[in-house]
Amino acid sequence: MTRLVLLGPPGAGKGTQAKLLSARLGVPAISTGDIFRANVAEQTELGQTVKEYLDAGKYVPDTVTNAMVRDRLQQPDAAEGFILDGYPRTTDQVRELDDMLGEAGAKLEHVLEITADTDELVRRLAGRAADQGRSDDTEDVIRTRQQVYLDQTAPLVEVYAERGLLRSVDGLGEIAAVTDRLLAALDLPHA
Ligand code: ADP
Repeated sequence: MTRLVLLGPPGAGKGTQAKLLSARLGVPAISTGDIFRANVAEQTELGQTVKEYLDAGKYVPDTVTNAMVRDRLQQPDAAEGFILDGYPRTTDQVRELDDMLGEAGAKLEHVLEITADTDELVRRLAGRAADQGRSDDTEDVIRTRQQVYLDQTAPLVEVYAERGLLRSVDGLGEIAAVTDRLLAALDLPHA
């Protein structure tokens, strides 16, 4: 059983690593950003609500995000554990996640922070914009997202460190090398 949160700035590689860890650990990777983007693409009601926030690089309001994650974590595949990628991102979301898990008699086991310097992040995201055409990968929006992360999400590192749950891992280098560092931080065997 693994209940794991991945923290880190936009472009740090959370999504990539979440998928690799998911395959390795046998628990689902749950990405709030992916779920929001899928809803935008399918033009659901949720998608219509969140589109303006995604396009601007701002956070979706906590009430909307919390309700969505609550629903997702109640799906059967998350009963035995999960990797959360992109949630929690605010202190209000930290409290909500605590409540959701508390109600289920569960608790968070690990928080892994993936670090990288801002220049590298902006370079990667600009590259991804060219590859994938994500509407929030334009230069202005990339800057906004980095700033929103610093203002609203970076403080969570301290919150989880105080709980003794946090391990920080260098996100620079080969994808497989970063995965190995994450597995090592979880005290799991790695290549
Ligand atoms: P990145 O990590 O590159 O910023 P994500 O795919 O995780 O991208 O998120 C994309 C967008 O989805 C965010 O900029 C934000 O608008 C929205 N989003 C994702 N997770 C959350 C969250 N926990 N709270 C509020 N908004 C979120």
